[in-house]
Amino acid sequence: PVKRPDRIQNQRIELPVYAEEQQIMEAIAQNPVVVLSGETGSGKTTQVPQFLLEAGYGDPDSPNPGMIGITQPRRVAAVSMAHRVAEELGNYGHTVAHQVRFDTTVSDRTRVKFMTEGVLLRELAADLLLAKYSVIIADEAHERSLNTDILLGVLSRVVRLRQKLSAESPDKHRPLKLVIMSATLRVDDFVKNTRLFRVPPPVLSVQARQHPVRVHFNRRTPAPGQHVHEAIQKVAKIHRRLPDGGILVFLTGQAEIAYVCKQLRSLFPSEAERAAAAKAIAAAAAQSRAATSNALEASVEDEDLDFGDADADDFEPGSDAGSGSESEEEDEIIVGGDGDADAEARRVLLQENLRSAPAVGDDACAPLHILPLYSLLPAEQQLKVFAPPPPGSRLCVVATNVAETSITIPGIRYVVDAGLVKEKKYDAQTQVQSFEVGWTSQASASQRMGRAGRTGPGHCYRLFSSAVFNDQFARFSEPEVLRMPIEGVVLQMKAMNLDNVVNFPFPTPPPRDVLEKAERLLTWLGALDDKGRATALGRLMSAFPVAPRFAKMLIVGQQHGCLPYVIAVVAALSVGDPFVKEFHLGEDGAGSDSDNDNDADADAAGAEQPVSNAALTAKEQRRARRRKYWDAQAKLAGAEPTSDLLKWLSAVGTFEYAGGTDAACSEYFVRPKAMGEIRKLRGQLTNIVQLYCPGVDVAMDPRMAPPTRVQQSVLRQIILAGFMDQVAVRGDIAGYHDPDEEEAAARRRGLHAVPYMTMWSDEPVFIHPESVIYIAARSSGSMPQAVVFGELQRTTRLWAKAVTVTSPRW
Ligand code: ADP
Ligand code: MG
Repeated sequence: PVKRPDRIQNQRIELPVYAEEQQIMEAIAQNPVVVLSGETGSGKTTQVPQFLLEAGYGDPDSPNPGMIGITQPRRVAAVSMAHRVAEELGNYGHTVAHQVRFDTTVSDRTRVKFMTEGVLLRELAADLLLAKYSVIIADEAHERSLNTDILLGVLSRVVRLRQKLSAESPDKHRPLKLVIMSATLRVDDFVKNTRLFRVPPPVLSVQARQHPVRVHFNRRTPAPGQHVHEAIQKVAKIHRRLPDGGILVFLTGQAEIAYVCKQLRSLFPSEAERAAAAKAIAAAAAQSRAATSNALEASVEDEDLDFGDADADDFEPGSDAGSGSESEEEDEIIVGGDGDADAEARRVLLQENLRSAPAVGDDACAPLHILPLYSLLPAEQQLKVFAPPPPGSRLCVVATNVAETSITIPGIRYVVDAGLVKEKKYDAQTQVQSFEVGWTSQASASQRMGRAGRTGPGHCYRLFSSAVFNDQFARFSEPEVLRMPIEGVVLQMKAMNLDNVVNFPFPTPPPRDVLEKAERLLTWLGALDDKGRATALGRLMSAFPVAPRFAKMLIVGQQHGCLPYVIAVVAALSVGDPFVKEFHLGEDGAGSDSDNDNDADADAAGAEQPVSNAALTAKEQRRARRRKYWDAQAKLAGAEPTSDLLKWLSAVGTFEYAGGTDAACSEYFVRPKAMGEIRKLRGQLTNIVQLYCPGVDVAMDPRMAPPTRVQQSVLRQIILAGFMDQVAVRGDIAGYHDPDEEEAAARRRGLHAVPYMTMWSDEPVFIHPESVIYIAARSSGSMPQAVVFGELQRTTRLWAKAVTVTSPRW
């Protein structure tokens, strides 16, 4: 039997889940799938695996010898929860292990295994039956990461399969149990989805006592970047003015957190740090005055350098650091604790007031025990947040949203919430994945608030206004599957050997036809074979955090030293046409340089009678500008233009070569904003390629030489490779025949009227008049047989833009 330390046993008894052990275990025994929802901190993650272990799951001599597997969306939770459960299990601690990518403690004694979702998905690819396990707990299912959704879809099938097999041959197979655990949020997507679970699984909810929390909104929302200083000031005020109790600060990332911890430590040094500082001052006093001042200056520089090191994800503190411009609080509400029993607690909360409470001088303040918490922090440092702070000091944890539901820190009474989250975003426009900071959802803000009311009444300070909360926060975070480009989702699943994507039981299914279309595109790109399975190229592509067509271009781009060009082309394609339009030429700011009227040309005059001198000059200027515009366009298009994208590439190269200034923008009629974005994206893509293609040496060179003829031809092939599905064939070749159209064409005549056919519809498309294709076509007198296009635009008809010929001779 399990022998737990008394201290642990006393803590367990307090947990709401503990009282429900029997009910939970009965539900698991009687149902293949069970949903367990409960307040964060109620004991789900730490206790349910122990219930299962004590009921015999994982015991080689029991009817359920397979391991107990628990999946977590985050590594930090997988590791720290494994530690905790091992500790709680006393003499059985050695049966608990964790496995995250590149780090595992699993041995043949392991019965309880904590892992990330990715680890289990990889195991599924190797053994669809999950024969090693008797039960899987999918924890934190409310987060709805793409991995969670895929995992639940697969597991729903594995459960059925194991049920069937165990009915057929009970001595060879045992059923697999699935427990889905989530915070108290929407579980309907799992429960009411009959494609996922034919029989709706029972939902058990664990009620936890939630103490009242007084929520304080800021009157004003700080400017972007200023939330960091607001957070520091808020913590300082709480620490100086309000009674005991831990402080939990929610920020977005490692760099910010490191900065805030450092600032807080210098405001409120620990006993040890105070002693060290006193010693340093004494030592410094022994030196000469000059030497002392040098030393102080040097130490300031050290600080700055140190901060630069910690700066992992380019965090920059705002400019008016420490200006004391803290936004005042405004709206307040008290959440929870409506019962009479809480009347006293509410009264106490109302008395505690940050504004009116007297501040204690910093020297008289208790020490502040400041700890960071984020995913990449080493495990032993993460675990520090659970230990009681040194006697007489106050705990202050500065965390990412890992502390929102995955990890419950004991003794928190004050929450300071910046309301932000750093999330993986797939930009639908650029089709490139990035991590971006944005407002979190109302649901997640309320989870964060709840952290203040676990052990007693508490306060939540929101560093944003109630108006922003109401108007700009989504109610819930959207499942990741709906935020990613669908070809990316399909490719990722294929790379996991999940081939039947169209019929896959997604908790939130994307439309079927969209999945089918994505699958066809991936086949054309060579990512899937004719049986719909991922090819070697497809697997490589799936690792790239960009849309599959761009991934392919980047992978193929390594030939003939074309990679820097492909990166620039992909960046330009993502941002879109960088050129100022001819019809915008008259407008101010559109690359205008109106002081340039010296070289007014001769043939500009004489065409029409001038009305006045002033009008003449204006007209001449316009003409001159228009001429300059077309000269620049022709120059960038090259001597034998074959591709709008190569013209874009040439614009990027020429512009950067000219110093990337606004003047260069005017000279080449490109939009400064577009050029700035392209430059940024080139940097990002260069990093991505370096990360995912080890051994490839690519750098972003502002003085990139233009591609040679051979490289240009390779680039055209690469563009074709990425846009296989967007080939348009000339109407006469494609057998297109439309008498009306032909009559109309005869009337319009000219090359602009030549129709092209695409694969997706019977509607003809036409090459946009701005395309460089016409320059070449005018001299050859005919239009190319086939082109690929980057995008279609509908006005009176469908226009193909960003066009490249498939073959330079036609
Ligand atoms: P849930 O999964 O329902 O959110 P948990 O099982 O994670 O709840 O947490 C239950 C309790 O165990 C919490 O009060 C938490 O503070 C405590 N706890 C978790 N890990 C540790 C640890 N490493 N040390 C001390 N207490 C811990
Ligand atoms: Mg949990």
